[in-house]
Amino acid sequence: MSTCPICHKPAEPKFQPFCSSRCANIDLGRWLKESYAIPDAEQVPEPIPDEDDA
Ligand SMILES: [Zn+2]
Repeated sequence: MSTCPICHKPAEPKFQPFCSSRCANIDLGRWLKESYAIPDAEQVPEPIPDEDDA
């Protein structure tokens, strides 16, 4: 029996390989983030300098 990769509880057959739809959504969100992070990696916005200390 496998365990949920998100929370490490026993996986439910209905939500394999996760324990719940919540964990499946968390994993999907991570996966989407990672796939978007690759093209965005070269376009990280510069931090805005704080010029309010005059
Ligand atoms: Zn889980």
